[in-house]
Amino acid sequence: MKLTKEDKMLIKKAENVIVKSSSVNLIDTGDVGAALITSNGNIFRGVSLGFYCGIGSCGEYQAIGSMISDGEKYIKTIVAVYYNKKNRKYEVIPPCGKCREMLHQLSKKNWDTEVIVSKSKKVKLKELLPYAWEGTIEK
Ligand SMILES: [Zn+2]
Repeated sequence: MKLTKEDKMLIKKAENVIVKSSSVNLIDTGDVGAALITSNGNIFRGVSLGFYCGIGSCGEYQAIGSMISDGEKYIKTIVAVYYNKKNRKYEVIPPCGKCREMLHQLSKKNWDTEVIVSKSKKVKLKELLPYAWEGTIEK
């Protein structure tokens, strides 16, 4: 699927959270920014966290946590952006396997979540996780 104006705005939101978090000035934290828009039209963002001793998480985790904290779980579209310090460019990256699984377990409705995988393409979560485990944490 091609990207919409809203998708491009979401990419900018993910880039902006990287810029904003850079003032915290930590190693390996804030390199990836994620932004999602819920089915209700609300936007949540998060950055990757990287601490020593294997402590950390992806930007998507933080965005999803923020969304849940605000009482929502249905994601219309999600994107993650990596800031490449070598060439100083932002690169849209597909979510890692854990994030794909988290999106799926959150709600079966998120099977149709649109995942932006590059600056010109998005796919549905079900295309990224074709043989998913059927578990969900939904009540
Ligand atoms: Zn991840």
